[in-house]
Amino acid sequence: MTNQIRNNTEKRISAVEAIFIKSGKIRAVRVWNGGKIHEVDVYLSTVTFDKWDQAQSIKCRISAFHYTDYTPAMWDIYQKTCTLYIDTGHNGQGSVWAKNQIAGNDLYYLKIEAEKQFPIKGKHLVFLGDQTGIGHFCSLQQLATKNTPISGLVTFNDSQSAEAFSENCPWLPLQAVSNYDAIHKQTEDWVIKHQAEKENFVFYVVGGKELIVTIRKLLRTYGFDESQIKSKGFWH
Ligand SMILES: Cc1cc2nc3c(=O)[nH]c(=O)nc-3n(C[C@H](O)[C@H](O)[C@H](O)COP(=O)(O)OP(=O)(O)OC[C@H]3O[C@@H](n4cnc5c(N)ncnc54)[C@H](O)[C@@H]3O)c2cc1C
Repeated sequence: MTNQIRNNTEKRISAVEAIFIKSGKIRAVRVWNGGKIHEVDVYLSTVTFDKWDQAQSIKCRISAFHYTDYTPAMWDIYQKTCTLYIDTGHNGQGSVWAKNQIAGNDLYYLKIEAEKQFPIKGKHLVFLGDQTGIGHFCSLQQLATKNTPISGLVTFNDSQSAEAFSENCPWLPLQAVSNYDAIHKQTEDWVIKHQAEKENFVFYVVGGKELIVTIRKLLRTYGFDESQIKSKGFWH
């Protein structure tokens, strides 16, 4: 099969997929300095954004019968748009798909579902994770009441993307680092500093499984209760 025929076959929606698939439109694509994070603005006409009270995920159709989870962030209930922050730094079909998207393309998806994570009222929210969690953190921030204290760390697998973080997400009060050791060490420093006010915090830990496991362990070691740690593995 030539690449052209394979591409067309992948793009074509089969009669079976057409039964359950939904569609939207890609409105814009922005690529961060260094090219690893792709911001994709999506128009989803039938989604009831105003009902969202938890972080969500959308199963995007990447190719025939292949669906990948991303997080709708920065949604506008009137324009019916949201933004996906897609990490393309690894060799995966989702990365290839994201890199090929341009404004005007159709976006097909299977479903949007609640991720059972939401801001706990009256608590200081601490976001810890990797580059795949950016959308999730933006969505928790959007759901939180105004003036909710937020802090945390986000790790990237390359220093160029880490450097581009504050410029591209100036509203997220998180520090960017560029390796696992750094997020581990800085999280440890942070929890030691805040030991006396432990009960004020809720941690949201998302990203690669290895990172989740080590950060959870660290937080438990420093006496944070299970109920204060909301975690979710995004990839492994
Ligand atoms: C609820 C939920 C929400 C998510 N939201 C987002 C989001 O907003 N943005 C986002 O970028 N991702 C998000 N993810 C993660 C994303 O779905 C996975 O990273 C997915 O595996 C990417 O698919 P792929 O086809 O590119 O790679 P795959 O074909 O799944 O994997 C190919 C190879 O790359 C490795 N791999 C996969 N992802 C990564 C990665 N990010 N870094 C390094 N290696 C990787 C795999 O282990 C495998 O070896 C989310 C996942 C979940 C469950």
